[in-house]
Amino acid sequence: MAQILAPSIQWQMKITKSSHKASPITSNMWGSLLVRHDKKGAPTNSAKFRALAIKAESGVVNRIEKLLNMDITPYTDKIIAEYIWVGGTGIDVRSKSRTIPKPVEHPSELPKWNYDGSSTGQAPGEDSEVILYPQAIFKDPFRGGNNILVICDSYTPAGEPIPTNKRHRAAEILSNPKVIAEVPWYGIEQEYTLLQSNVKWPLGWPVGAYPGPQGPYYCSAGADKSFGRDISDAHYKACLYAGINISGTNGEVMPGQWEYQVGPSVGIEAGDHIWCSRYILERITEQAGVVLTLDPKPIEGDWNGAGCHTNFSTKSMREDGGYEVIKKAILNLSLRHLEHISAYGEGNERRLTGKHETASIDTFSWGVANRGCSIRVGRDTEQKGKGYLEDRRPASNMDPYVVTSLLAETTLLWEPTLEAEALAAQKLSLKV
Ligand code: ADP
Ligand code: MN
Ligand code: MN
Ligand code: MN
Repeated sequence: MAQILAPSIQWQMKITKSSHKASPITSNMWGSLLVRHDKKGAPTNSAKFRALAIKAESGVVNRIEKLLNMDITPYTDKIIAEYIWVGGTGIDVRSKSRTIPKPVEHPSELPKWNYDGSSTGQAPGEDSEVILYPQAIFKDPFRGGNNILVICDSYTPAGEPIPTNKRHRAAEILSNPKVIAEVPWYGIEQEYTLLQSNVKWPLGWPVGAYPGPQGPYYCSAGADKSFGRDISDAHYKACLYAGINISGTNGEVMPGQWEYQVGPSVGIEAGDHIWCSRYILERITEQAGVVLTLDPKPIEGDWNGAGCHTNFSTKSMREDGGYEVIKKAILNLSLRHLEHISAYGEGNERRLTGKHETASIDTFSWGVANRGCSIRVGRDTEQKGKGYLEDRRPASNMDPYVVTSLLAETTLLWEPTLEAEALAAQKLSLKV
């Protein structure tokens, strides 16, 4: 079962302290957020985008904002829970709200709920009810107070996980005693691309044209290089507030593209945190009037794609002698390359070309400090003889439940035949 994210006492205290303040993310933050280009390609603030946010010059709208930011905790024990689930495409996040009689600290205190699966591509019209099981809770950075975001997974009324419920199988694998004993850590680097909503072209790019070639944008500052920082930063703080184990952010090589990292997280928590962080990002970009895409190669050509590198270690890898364990894990991974590739995201073949810091989708490779490999081992891990490996293959639109559980399965539960192992060891120059 998922864990509660903040110790309850701390949570309550924090809420009391800040209960007279407005919700931490308010729509008036978005006034200066966006950069667009006029016809000559010079960046300008966009009045159009501003109008899409709730803030407006009209007094009526401002009064709505007051209500949105109102702290209801002094007046009612009731809270709002936003139930979140993965929709029928396997990448869309859906949510709806309901009132809960009093604040809760654990998902088991929450009722199951249902939704119309025929509207999310997850059930036929004549038998459309899908049941939501609450699995993890986070503080709601949009509503503030005691309100919560609830990560759920989906079941038939008979209690069977529906096909798009990838969490159920992942939780089974990750609760295998062999896996639990190895305390698997995951550090996930979620890359994403921001698009101008009307033209679906990257944020900061001149409409109908391209910016200068890649080089100056990665980890940059400046109005001609960094596009969408306020979104990245608002998301960072919102995630910290929510209780997501976000560990950093950076601007990416392709302008308009960003990354944040979540982890190290243990087991199923990694997937819950990534899904909740994606939901928060959808909400923030919605407020900003910018479109989020997790497409692995949003722009063809000489532009970096978007991945979701998954850093992985087990207890044995983190302890002395761990490098040998890492090499054995790499060997297993090489023998299941196809299984992994087919589970690592739609459209990943457009990204894993062997260029732009990727390895070719067709061949498995590994290397120390080599960003052109399927699996990279850090210099630090090699030097210390222990640490972790980075699987660089997952696409930005991968399902973290699938990727984290598959890594555990392949490296901790699956065993190749001796012949296959010997052959692979020779091919990869790996002695185990
Ligand atoms: P990169 O150098 O590839 O850009 P990042 O710094 O973006 O790497 O991300 C590395 C991620 O790996 C971080 O989320 C970090 O918390 C995580 N990490 C660090 N140590 C471990 C470990 N032992 N096991 C798993 N993940 C780890
Ligand atoms: Mn990174
Ligand atoms: Mn990156
Ligand atoms: Mn990386």
